[in-house]
Parts: sequence; C-alpha cells; structure tokens
Amino acid sequence: MEQGNRVKRIVIAGGGTAGWMAAAAMAKTLGAVLDIKLIESEEIGTVGVGEATIPTLVTYNRLLKINEQAFMAATQATFKLGIEFANWRRRDHSYIHSFGITGKDHWTAGFQHFWLRGMKEGVASDYGDYCLELKAALEDRFAHLPEQGLNYAYHLDASLYAKFLRGMAEEHGAKRIEGKIVSVEKHAENGFLKSVTLMDGQVIEGDLFIDCSGFRGLLIEQALHTGYDDWTHWLPCDSAVAVQTEAVGPAIPYTRSTAHDSGWQWRIPLQHRVGNGLVFCSRYQSDDSAIDLLTKNIEGKALTDPRVLKFKTGMRRKHWNRNCIALGLSSGFIEPLESTSIHLIQRGILRLMQMFPSDGIKQSDIDEFNRQTEFEVEGIRDFIILHYHVTDRRDTPFWRHCAGMDIPASLQHRIDLFRETGRVFKQSDELFAENSWIQVMLGQGIMPESYHPVADAMSRDELVAFLAHVRTNVERTAMQLPPHEKYVQQYCKAAM
Ligand SMILES: Cc1cc2nc3c(=O)[nH]c(=O)nc-3n(C[C@H](O)[C@H](O)[C@H](O)COP(=O)(O)OP(=O)(O)OC[C@H]3O[C@@H](n4cnc5c(N)ncnc54)[C@H](O)[C@@H]3O)c2cc1C
Repeated sequence: MEQGNRVKRIVIAGGGTAGWMAAAAMAKTLGAVLDIKLIESEEIGTVGVGEATIPTLVTYNRLLKINEQAFMAATQATFKLGIEFANWRRRDHSYIHSFGITGKDHWTAGFQHFWLRGMKEGVASDYGDYCLELKAALEDRFAHLPEQGLNYAYHLDASLYAKFLRGMAEEHGAKRIEGKIVSVEKHAENGFLKSVTLMDGQVIEGDLFIDCSGFRGLLIEQALHTGYDDWTHWLPCDSAVAVQTEAVGPAIPYTRSTAHDSGWQWRIPLQHRVGNGLVFCSRYQSDDSAIDLLTKNIEGKALTDPRVLKFKTGMRRKHWNRNCIALGLSSGFIEPLESTSIHLIQRGILRLMQMFPSDGIKQSDIDEFNRQTEFEVEGIRDFIILHYHVTDRRDTPFWRHCAGMDIPASLQHRIDLFRETGRVFKQSDELFAENSWIQVMLGQGIMPESYHPVADAMSRDELVAFLAHVRTNVERTAMQLPPHEKYVQQYCKAAM
C-alpha cells in the first residue's frame, strides 16, 4: 500500500472479541465496497475473559441494528446497572458506581451541591438514595423504561458475542480464514505492511491491517515496533486468575468488585453461570496464593480450572501506525475494574469508520485518531487509579503502596477540585461523566469542603421538600420494576 492509494483490501489479524466486532461493523457498513478478510487461529485461541460491559455497548449494538433479545439470548447475557465496590475504601464498607444520573442538577451546579447542604443540615440521606439505577440494582430489579429512563449495560459471554458477530460479519461479506500467521511482510520504501503469510504458505495482501491479535500485538508491535507506555507505576496489578462457577441463585443486575489484600475479585452473573476472577499484583502475591484465595471466595461449584493471565498495564505509543490500526488487547490494557476494554474496542471501530481512509492513508487522519484515542484512554486510566489511590486502607503493603504513590497531575487536579469545591467537570469526549466521578470520589471517601452558593438560595423547607421528592420518586419507580431474573427469563432467555 502506497501512501495516497485507495484502501479496499482490509486484513483483520485475530478473531477474538476485537476482531469480530471490527469485522461486523465494517462489513455491515462498508461490506459492499470493501474486501474484508479475518484470519484467526483455533490453535492459539482467544483470551477467553471479558464479561462485563458499560452502557455504550447498547448504543454500539443499536448502530449495527442488532436485535437485543436475540443478542442477549445468544450470549447468555443479563442486565448490568453498575458495579458494587466492597472493601475498597475500608473493610466492611461498600458503595455502588451505577450507570444512572443522581438527583436533578441546576444549570449552575450539580445535584451534589444540594445534597452536600442537605448532609450539612442533617436532612439528606445516602447519595445513592437519589439514583434510580442504584436503587434498582440494590433491589435486584430491572425493566426497560421509556426514553432510556434506566441506563444499563450487559454481563455477557464475550466468546459467544464474538461468535454472534461472526455470523453477522460473514453474512455481509467478510471472509474468515483459519490459519496461523507466521510472518509479516512490509513495503521496502515506506515500511507499510504489505501482507501476512500463514503457516500453510498462503499470502494475504492488504491495504489496511487491523491488529486484533491480542496481547502479542503481532502487527503493531512485533512487525512495526510501535512501542508501549508502561503504567505499572500507577496501576501495579499485573496478573489475574479466572474461574467460572455454577450459579447458586438468581443473577443480580450488577457486577461485584471486592478488594482483597493485594488486588480485587470480580463476580459477574450470566444466565448460565457466573464469571469470577482475581486481579492481583505479583509483587505482593504469588500465583498459587491468588488461586487459593479465589477458590476459597467463590460461591458454587467450579466449572473450569483456575487460569492465570499475565498483563502489563499501559498503552501502545500509537494506536494507528502506518497502515496498521491496533484494536483490543494489542492496543494496550487497563485492568477490568470499570469494564472498559470492550468499550475501547468499540470506540476504535467507530473512530475508524468516521475517518475511513478510502482515498489513501493521510498522516493528519493518523494523528487525529491517535490524539483522540490517547485522550480517551488516559481519562479511563485516571479514573481507575482513583479507586486505588483514594482509600483509607493502609492494612497491607499493597494498599500502603497505592495510597502513597504519585498520581498523574490530571487526576490530582480533579481530586483537589472536588475536595475543595464539590465541583466536577466532564472534559469534552471523555467516557466517564460527572456522576461517575462523584459516585466514586464520595465512595472512596472524599467529602467536599464546600458547595455552590445556589444550594443556599433555597429555604430549608424547600431543600427538604426537593430532596424528599427526588428520593421518593426513585424509591417508588424502583419498587414498581419486576425482579431482574424474572425479566431476563421473559425477555431473552437463553437456550441452556
Ligand atoms: C483478566 C481479564 C479480564 C477482563 N475482563 C473484561 C471485562 O469484564 N470487560 C471488558 O470489556 N473487557 C475485559 N477484558 C478485556 C477483554 O477480554 C478483551 O478486550 C477482549 O476479549 C478482546 O480481546 P482481543 O480480541 O483483543 O484478543 P484475544 O481474545 O486474545 O484474541 C486474539 C485473536 O488473535 C488470534 N491470533 C493471535 N496470534 C495469531 C496468529 N499468529 N495467527 C493467527 N491468529 C492469531 C487468536 O487466535 C485470537 O483469535 C478482560 C481482560 C483480562 C485479561
């Protein structure tokens, strides 16, 4: 591929969630004008984890006109309203980061300012009492409400999601090639990728290559030597152990994240089973002791043997390099604490579709793609660091390290601003909005020292009535929703 030539032949290396999400979106949108090939190796397989998502996946599926009931039944999916963080601030404490909006904002100041005055005067209750998604999660209830009245995401089996998308991609003309890529060839004059060669000798040429080969980064790193920004000094966990268990009760509509001595444990309820895992830091915990800890803390019979995965938190220096775009684990990894990996795949795909280089690859497109991606990933990185750094826990070397470590200046500013003024601002296109930052900052123990004066403009009676009105509405609506398990059974029951 010469710079400036038309892009028609797309080669996707890898058929995990990233590969098939990319193939499905490209085939559905541009399948008529592109030649899309996806190469995957059954022998290598996929990473086999990744079960919790965030609400943006609802939008992605809608863009692809995916029928929600069929998709949920095919992927054993349940609804997710947020994440419970247990023992993060201190042992025996928990809070929920929900997907909802809390209370009602005034144009000058968010709801938290009115709540803060309410707390000062003893007339407000827990911040979560004013959020419908949070209340519904705690009550194990769910239903679709008009005008997206209840924000949600899914717990799903990512391997089944990839299979589901494969059907769609192939239907729209994408071709799957089974085989192992053994070498990558480049154009001598500009270093652009030219072709990949498979074990059986097949040579597949392309104009644009999408690297979805997982942690190994077959094209973006092994062939193009793009480089990697290592963030382990901020996010020291570098290992995980995963195990699937039988369900022992109804699926709850939220993910559970429980902090342990040197990391944290996830619990993700699907229709047919539960996904469990422990993310930990190898500097403070061995693989054997992590397996032991996880095995002791799961409910229900194990369906799989515990599997250890190793990773390095960070980001590829360029997500788009020459004629190669990295999506999924090949582009970098931030641990699954806020379920952001599948979201980042989807964002990369949408960005590519918006900047599709049909007339040839332009450096300005590459630079813009990389600028937007970096901004987004760094925002997520800061949000994850917040959970570890702002904590009362000092009970183990791991937590003492997290509490004492240096953090990015961008995050320090947000923390200072919230602590001093109660203010939070979402920056342009960043993923986590004000309500997410507020819920986690309050949950982790930051109580603002002041609030906006508009909250004092109300009389005390008005404030009491306002807070009571929001809270009562939340409670009433939540209690009218059906139980989550019952709703799933009626709406999208999977064949077992
Ligand atoms: C412990 C853990 C927990 C996670 N939990 C979540 C979560 O809850 N939510 C979330 O959003 N994300 C989560 N993720 C991330 C999520 O798993 C990934 O983002 C997602 O599965 C995409 O993976 P992938 O497609 O990039 O890579 P993979 O699944 O590794 O797929 C790589 C593909 O490349 C192919 N391949 C590799 N080398 C070759 C070769 N030489 N020739 C041919 N084919 C090749 C493989 O066969 C495979 O098809 C988690 C990740 C980890 C490690």
